[in-house]
Order: sequence, then structure tokens, then C-alpha cells
Amino acid sequence: MARNIGAACRRCRREGLKLYLKGDRCYSDKCSYERRAFGPGQHGQARFKKLSNYAIQLREKQKVKSMYGMLENQFRLNFHKADLQKGVTGENLLILLERRLDNTVFRLGFAASRSQSRQLVRHKHILVNGKKVDIPSFLISAGDVVSLKEKSRANAAINENLEAVVRRGVPSWLELDKDNYKATVKALPNREEMTMPIQEQLIVELYSK
Ligand code: SF4
Repeated sequence: MARNIGAACRRCRREGLKLYLKGDRCYSDKCSYERRAFGPGQHGQARFKKLSNYAIQLREKQKVKSMYGMLENQFRLNFHKADLQKGVTGENLLILLERRLDNTVFRLGFAASRSQSRQLVRHKHILVNGKKVDIPSFLISAGDVVSLKEKSRANAAINENLEAVVRRGVPSWLELDKDNYKATVKALPNREEMTMPIQEQLIVELYSK
């Protein structure tokens, strides 16, 4: 599966925001953005340049793509899916992204970052309703039970991640049973519960040109 292998920290610095792409490092004083809160590259510290409307919309889209670790085609497909649904397209898009299995596994704290959670899914550590699912873009539904495969429960890294999830908190649409390495999807996520600084309307405007 294609994925963005560019330097993660550069993406945070480019967007002027911590995107939390590197797990524990993001919460430590090793975070590049904390140390160099300016754009990457030779002109990263150049004087602030006024952005055009198009550039503002583009940056917003790039930011959300980076957050969820997606490439353009995949992201655009999600947008079209969101556009076909009833309701507000921007909100539909964010809900679709949140429902991805790799994001859910990250939100539950089985993994420290979305890229790590994608790896857990790909390597068949994750079960949905008792069945192995190795597709990171699989969409979870209300009532689904997401759990860790029995054999993977002794994995030290996963256990460390679970201990550290307190720092991030588990969203209210998921009910985590930490002792049994499983969680129930209580309901689909809604926009109010998503606290990330995203202006999804800008993405809709960009793709609607
Ligand atoms: Fe972004 Fe994390 Fe790198 Fe900090 S450590 S710049 S939050 S990816």
C-alpha cells in the first residue's frame, strides 16, 4: 500500500502545528516543532507572506491528509464518498476519516501513532467482531467490537502504548476495556467530539472548484 514516507516532523513545521505523527516523541522535548517552530527548508524563517485563498485551502487539506497519513487519491475518494452522503460534506468527510480502522486503533491507544496502528492492522493483530481485519481503511460501525488478537496481548510496546493513552484520552464514542484489550464502538463519532483544529469547509471549497 502506498504511503507518505516523507519526514514527518517537516510536515508539522510546514503546517505550523503539531500533528502528532511520531508517537511518544511528540510529547517529549525532542519534538522538532517545539524546538524549531518555523517552516522547514532554507526559507523557513523568511518573513510571513500573505497566503492566497487557494493556498489557505490547500494547506488545510494537506494538514488533514498528513494527520490521517493519507495520499491524495485515497483522500479524494473519501471526499467523494462524503459528498454523496446526506448532510454536511465537510463533517461527513471527518467522520469517515475517524471511522477508519487504523484511526480507531490509534484512538484506543493500542498504537502510539496512526502509522504504527496501520502496521498493527496490516500485520493482522486486530480483530473486528472477532474476525481478523487487515485493511487500515476498513470503516467501523456503531456496535462493532475492536480487539487485539490473543497472541499479541503480551506485546510490550502495545502495553506501553495502552498505559500512555491516558495522556491523550479515549474519545467518548469508544468504550475501552483495557484489561481485556478490547473496545466497543458506542456510536459513530460526531463533529462536536473532534477537537482537532480543522476547518473542513476549506477542504470542501478547494475540491469544489
Ligand atoms: Fe510533529 Fe511529532 Fe515531529 Fe513534533 S515530534 S514535529 S509533533 S511529528
